[in-house]
Amino acid sequence: MIRKRVLVTGGAGFLGSHLCERLLGDGCDVLCVDNFYTGRRDNITHLLGNPHFEVMRHDITFPLYVEVDEIYNLACPASPIHYQFDPVQTTKTSVIGSINMLGLAKRVKARILQASTSEIYGDPEIHPQPETYSGNVNIIGPRACYDEGKRCAETLFFDYHRQHKVRIKVARIFNTYGPRMHPKDGRVVSNFIVQALSGQPISIYGRGSQTRSFLYVDDLIEGLVRLMATPDEVTGPINLGSDVEMPIEALAKKIIGLAESRSTIEYHPLPQDDPTRRQADTTRARSILGWQPTVDVDTGLRRTITYFRELLAAYPDAAR
Ligand code: NAD
Ligand code: UDP
Repeated sequence: MIRKRVLVTGGAGFLGSHLCERLLGDGCDVLCVDNFYTGRRDNITHLLGNPHFEVMRHDITFPLYVEVDEIYNLACPASPIHYQFDPVQTTKTSVIGSINMLGLAKRVKARILQASTSEIYGDPEIHPQPETYSGNVNIIGPRACYDEGKRCAETLFFDYHRQHKVRIKVARIFNTYGPRMHPKDGRVVSNFIVQALSGQPISIYGRGSQTRSFLYVDDLIEGLVRLMATPDEVTGPINLGSDVEMPIEALAKKIIGLAESRSTIEYHPLPQDDPTRRQADTTRARSILGWQPTVDVDTGLRRTITYFRELLAAYPDAAR
């Protein structure tokens, strides 16, 4: 049997590790490339015994010479606290990293999929956000290293497609959650669950009236794999996200209830440029990929709470 050789950059991260697992299950040879900036070996240790899985420590801001058939470009810190910690490196990862991965795709004639983000819409004036909306990003704000880096990466993908005929796919991923998020990742779902399970106050930024739509990780992975399998003329961008909009305060109360926690709620200042509303318009994903979310938020949160409960039982310090 000839196996497809697939490169996953950022493969030791939250989404990347789930994708590597899925691709191995689909019969691919998987090369996971990661510099372990926010990813962890623990996310992939269960895959290391598989002869079709290989890990390479490498920073994609440097060129990479490998032979592969498909590339999923997921390398980039995704949590605001992590991507703002070293903003220059964040932009380099999206821009120089994309140039390197697109150059690789061009040389070996591989298909390449970019993990773009709903953040390219910034603080949106159009709701829900369709792919035709060009966004409202503060170019010089603290989130710009991520938002503008990802926007430039999309530009590069489409220019390599037009100029060099590289076969591209661009997925705009909305807030995704699930097992293997880092307990100190800083994103809202992991923060609230860890706080609820360890009896700490739940930290709401602002008044909690800002909204997000939350997608369970398995649904996201299904969407990415379907997008990669589309005919060459399908380039995207395609939104992959939930279309159920939820205020952050409602999420906090839901997690307290599902975790049977006695945590109280504490309000903190809202970070600068925190988007007010966000909800995926999934019309394209539904019609082009035949894709839709299948895991409702209660089910997904219950699974994620179970994961963190087991993690905290094994490593109590993970919450501190
Ligand atoms: P994550 O931080 O868990 O994973 C990112 C991975 O990339 C980590 O393993 C990290 O070590 C690695 N990495 C970072 N810089 C690198 C570099 N220069 N070279 C090699 N590896 C590098 O985040 P995630 O949630 O798994 O996100 C994965 C991708 O999906 C990111 O590109 C992110 O922007 C995108 N995305 C995620 C979400 C979400 O809700 N999870 C939403 C939108 C977009
Ligand atoms: N948030 C919060 N408390 C936290 C972490 C995040 O209230 O402990 C809020 C944050 O201000 C934002 C929303 O939750 O409005 C989603 O934040 P996250 O960092 O998960 O993702 P993003 O802002 O990139 O969508």
